[in-house]
Amino acid sequence: MVFNKLFSSPPLCPYCNITSRVKKHGKGRTGYQRYFCTSCSRTFQTKYIYNICVKQNAMNLG
Ligand SMILES: [Zn+2]
Repeated sequence: MVFNKLFSSPPLCPYCNITSRVKKHGKGRTGYQRYFCTSCSRTFQTKYIYNICVKQNAMNLG
């Protein structure tokens, strides 16, 4: 399944835009997978990344 491959790979860090230092960091209260970037020492969620991508796409269109 293509979707399984997408979810198994580490996401892009929204702060420093790299994947190589992103590690899983448990799950948030809402059930979303949380991640921790060892490069910038920040945590983030996959849903948060999705929202950023939507905003960037909107900006590119406008
Ligand atoms: Zn980072």
